[in-house]
Amino acid sequence: MNTLFTTENKRTLVYILIAYTFSVALRMVWVYQFADAQSMKFAGEFMINTNDGYFWAEGARDIINGISQPNDLSPVTQAASQLTAFFSRILPFTFESIIFYMSALLSSLVVVPIILIAKRVHNLEMGLIAALLGSIAWSYYNRTMVGYFDTDMLNIVLPLFLLWSVIWAVDTKEDIYLLITAFDILLYRWWYPQSYALESSFWLLLLLWTLLFERKSIYNYKLLSIMLVAMLNIDGSWRFGAIFALFYIFSQKKSEKYIYHILLLSIGAYFITGGFDPIWDKLKAYVFTTTVAKDEGGLGLHYFTVMQTVREAGHISFETFANRISGHIVTFMLSLAGYLWLLYRYKIMLFTLPMLALGFLALTGGLRFTIYAVPVLAFGMAFLISEISHRLTNSKALRYLFMSLATLAVLYPNYKHIEAYSVPTVFNAAEVEVLNKLKDIAQREDYVVAWWDYGYPIRYYSDVKTLTDGGKHSGAVNYPVSYILTRPQLQAARMARLDVEFTEKSFQPLQKGKKRFSNIEEMVKAYGLKDPQQFLKALGQNIEMPKKSRDVYIYLPLRMMDIFPTVAIFSHIDLKTGKRLQQPFFYKSTNFRQKGKDILLGDGVRLDKEKGVVHIGKQELPVKRFVKTMYDEKMQLHTEISNIHKNGLSVIFLSSYRIFLVVDESAYNSLYVQLFVLQNFDKKLFTPVILTPYAKVYRLNI
Ligand code: MN
Repeated sequence: MNTLFTTENKRTLVYILIAYTFSVALRMVWVYQFADAQSMKFAGEFMINTNDGYFWAEGARDIINGISQPNDLSPVTQAASQLTAFFSRILPFTFESIIFYMSALLSSLVVVPIILIAKRVHNLEMGLIAALLGSIAWSYYNRTMVGYFDTDMLNIVLPLFLLWSVIWAVDTKEDIYLLITAFDILLYRWWYPQSYALESSFWLLLLLWTLLFERKSIYNYKLLSIMLVAMLNIDGSWRFGAIFALFYIFSQKKSEKYIYHILLLSIGAYFITGGFDPIWDKLKAYVFTTTVAKDEGGLGLHYFTVMQTVREAGHISFETFANRISGHIVTFMLSLAGYLWLLYRYKIMLFTLPMLALGFLALTGGLRFTIYAVPVLAFGMAFLISEISHRLTNSKALRYLFMSLATLAVLYPNYKHIEAYSVPTVFNAAEVEVLNKLKDIAQREDYVVAWWDYGYPIRYYSDVKTLTDGGKHSGAVNYPVSYILTRPQLQAARMARLDVEFTEKSFQPLQKGKKRFSNIEEMVKAYGLKDPQQFLKALGQNIEMPKKSRDVYIYLPLRMMDIFPTVAIFSHIDLKTGKRLQQPFFYKSTNFRQKGKDILLGDGVRLDKEKGVVHIGKQELPVKRFVKTMYDEKMQLHTEISNIHKNGLSVIFLSSYRIFLVVDESAYNSLYVQLFVLQNFDKKLFTPVILTPYAKVYRLNI
């Protein structure tokens, strides 16, 4: 017991507590800043600020309530949902508090492996400084702040624990680290199935290390074997058992004679169970990028690809890259220098290379990777600071003074970033109130049709099904939803019914030898047609509708006004040729002012009310109608329509919102404008269910 309470161990514990408290405290800056923002709260707690978080929250909610609903896409078997449900069961806090604070509390655990790794090289000051910097540096903060309820909250913590145990294993050769390393892998794989990338890099590096420096170390071969067993592509509970079995075998002295056989066996098992397959698939995808899937027996329909509108995968500048890793470009350069020095001094730190490499992928693969380099380069900076302080002076007091000041200097830009980073919640309270009400109206098996951005939150707050969400939004699934939102009521209503019924049908097992096509293609074929154009035309004429299996609701939020043109793109494409079709004209202005008789709407758009024309750049276009909408004291919407010219654009003034819309006839007749902006619904097709200024919900009557 005496060895456990050494001064070094006590100091380690104190440093961990300091760093953890610091990391959590800085994440509370956001909470402090928005303490009075009632529009960001639901059920008395802040709402989360990442869309994907609602996916995990939905899964956790269903686990807690013991609900398993086939084909509702709720992630009840995934780790993030399971861990959340577990916390919710054992902790006395509300579910809303748990999903809001969990990221801050778990991600701050990153300080533990950082300090423990530094302990191995007996430089605890380096560990503390690295933990302070690494836990709050720019990109790590962005992806682990309060409310950022996503797998990121452990995506750095778990590989760092793995790194810690590999380093301690190689350095101490203690048997316990064989087990810890294997369980780290198990845990990491459970949390994040893509973890195989880092696991296999650590393994390869260990192999290389062993062949170069420790060819005779039986321990290293044991470690290599047990890591592979933990990485087998079989169920986690089998791997759990196999790890113990192997550990028991290793505890028998005889086994050392057969260590090479055991290693070869593990390698064999790794390949046979398909452990290498995901890596091989990735490689194949890189090498054969041009292979196009054959559309056998299909109509060869074309859809818009989402990649064209998602910008995350874009390249980033070097300065952004450096800022995101270290908070400042100077800190980044110094950290790199310190890191090289650290590798030179402690060879064992070479095991940090895979994480650094993954972080540097951000330069080509998108900025979300930078977080992997954060703790590694934090070590570099921390080492530099502690080394310089040792060379500077012999006085302990001066040394600590220098270390403190230097640490504050590298922390400062990161603190400034945190202070300025005021991310809003995904939804506002008024929108969530609508969804929460809808929960009591709609059944769990009903569908809510909405643009994919709102899919996860709708499923979480209303406990319903959706057609699209943050993980399901290919061009083919977006087409019908885009069509529903941007076409006239009759076509929209029919498409909504068809898409829901065909989505449910797509969950049924396929007959042998049959291939599954997109919903639109299945619809075209179900009506005995070959040309999608004929089908779309028929939607506005006489067409027999399928039997209704459940209710369908349409969710139309105010915030969709900003993305209406993007929504429209997905269904304004010629399905046969892939050519873009004429988009509906939809222009929104909130920043307008009167100038003489004219109203300037911005972007060179000018409304001349007297003449009834709109100037767009050099064009002069007639106004067909001028519409004014307003809410009265009882929150009832009123609309006044004045017809002006026979043809032309419509100008809509949403007076209660202070918004001007300039739209063409096709946008004017779209479901969104008719049902959300004007509340002018066809009673045969829709029943209003919830009407508020922020969001409106209608039930489909057909
Ligand atoms: Mn569900």
